[in-house]
Amino acid sequence: MPLAPSHFLLSCFLMSLLAYTIKQSASRFSARTITKPLISRAMHIQSIPMWEGTGNNYAYLVTDDKSKESVIIDPANPPEVLPVLKEQTESGAIKLSKIINTHHHHDHAGGNSEILKHYKLPIIGGKDCTQVTTTPSHKSQFTIGESIKVTALHTPCHTQDSICFYFEDGSERAVFTGDTLFIGGCGRFFEGNATEMNKALNEVLASLPDDTKVYPGHEYTKGNVKFAKKVLDNEAIRKLDEFSQANKETQGKFTIGDEKQHNVFMRVNDPDIQSLTGGKDAVEVMKALREMKDRS
Ligand SMILES: [Zn+2]
Repeated sequence: MPLAPSHFLLSCFLMSLLAYTIKQSASRFSARTITKPLISRAMHIQSIPMWEGTGNNYAYLVTDDKSKESVIIDPANPPEVLPVLKEQTESGAIKLSKIINTHHHHDHAGGNSEILKHYKLPIIGGKDCTQVTTTPSHKSQFTIGESIKVTALHTPCHTQDSICFYFEDGSERAVFTGDTLFIGGCGRFFEGNATEMNKALNEVLASLPDDTKVYPGHEYTKGNVKFAKKVLDNEAIRKLDEFSQANKETQGKFTIGDEKQHNVFMRVNDPDIQSLTGGKDAVEVMKALREMKDRS
């Protein structure tokens, strides 16, 4: 039966309405699919330089952007760190939840007592850190806010209580290495030996994904490159040399993958370094390199 003109018009109207609704939801769906990667949050890392010109230390304030939960890593010099914490906690930009220490040395854990006078916080760190609350076991994990996953990596050598903290937030990865790994170098073996540093650098840290950004406890890159150039000549070392001449700060600019190329302490199997040091295995080379660096 043919439709009456009024029914025909009504059907046309309903069909266009249906088509419009489908189009709208399709465009909403595709917009959502496209913007998804943009709304996936990355952790926010703020460097706080301390004792610039002498110790050249770094404290780091790491924040989960959505919940605003923050941790402060190695806040060793309160006069330089407290104003940053005060401003951001008072404005509501962050909710400070923990102090994290990479090891017990005074220029890393020495600010704990003073910070505790202003903020009641647990301290996560090595067993010898001042007023430590919890020493996480090797490879144990905790979270910051909703999205940052932290893994504690025991790396004894510089001190026996040295812990590196590996942070993951979606596709973003960072490792806070204290005085174990520097950009282009490593810490002195105060409480450990070459076997331990070789394990820390070339087994524990080397096993992290290559795109993990490195945040060390000090800005020592210029001195480290100067030494690296005496030991080895490669493209990566030349690039690091150029970068460190042009930039005062190098933290977070290089990855574990870069360190495997330009850090001589992570190239203990390089035949050129082996022949220079006379070392036949990784540990012998590590020992010889550290002794050469200490004398340089
Ligand atoms: Zn130290």
